[in-house]
Amino acid sequence: MPKSKIPASAGRKNPKVEKKAALLVPKTPISELQLHHKTTCNRKYGFQSLGTHCLRYISPRAKELIESQKEGSSEQRVFHVAAFDLDDTLIKTKTGMKFSRSADDWKWWNENVPKKVADWLEQPFPADTPANTSRVIVVFTNQGSVVNTAKPTTPSKSLDTLIEKLNQIANSPALAGVPLLAYAATRKGAADKKAHLGSPPELHDEFRKPNTGMWKQLQRDLAPGTPALDVSFFVGDAAGRKKDFSDSDVNFARALGLRHIVPEDFFT
Ligand SMILES: [Mg+2]
Repeated sequence: MPKSKIPASAGRKNPKVEKKAALLVPKTPISELQLHHKTTCNRKYGFQSLGTHCLRYISPRAKELIESQKEGSSEQRVFHVAAFDLDDTLIKTKTGMKFSRSADDWKWWNENVPKKVADWLEQPFPADTPANTSRVIVVFTNQGSVVNTAKPTTPSKSLDTLIEKLNQIANSPALAGVPLLAYAATRKGAADKKAHLGSPPELHDEFRKPNTGMWKQLQRDLAPGTPALDVSFFVGDAAGRKKDFSDSDVNFARALGLRHIVPEDFFT
């Protein structure tokens, strides 16, 4: 009798895979977590803090597209999304250090970034694309060292620096006037933690890639329009390669059923 080709490990659960899968499932149902999105705090330059777990930016052009939809009518838009991680994907530090030292310490990941983004936005839609289709650029970034504060008047230095930097990027010649949305998963400061202020820990977890809270927030922000998953994609450097510090980008895309591309393939 021929030996079975089924490996001895078949059917057994791989603890590493199980652990990763568990990370992708929020402990509290998202419908309950959504209650905390009501705590919105306006920051500089039109940025907003959602609780303490997320910093959000919606550019004037993106707002126009969203607001031009009329609920329940055929004017709901379909959005083709080009999503990007921030650090070591869209930008890198000028100094070559891993972490930026100031709001000015950034440059495009390579010189092709502005043109590749513009080319994607300007390419003609295929002939059978519905008229209510629009393209948007979206940034999803884990910023675990940035402290988002529950107090509206006193942002932390790290939050201020991130806002200054993202504002420079959003208003750079490459992105000014572009429909752009940006989401940064931030952390809570010790004082807020102690005083039980800000978002619950589950919401902080849910918003950090590879979990999909930032994408779900994008869906809520584009409503009643919807992102078209089949033609959208996510470019991110954390792809689990030997040189990568993490695989959070590839697993974020995988969890959403979104095409993942590494920066080397998209920008070169
Ligand atoms: Mg990165």
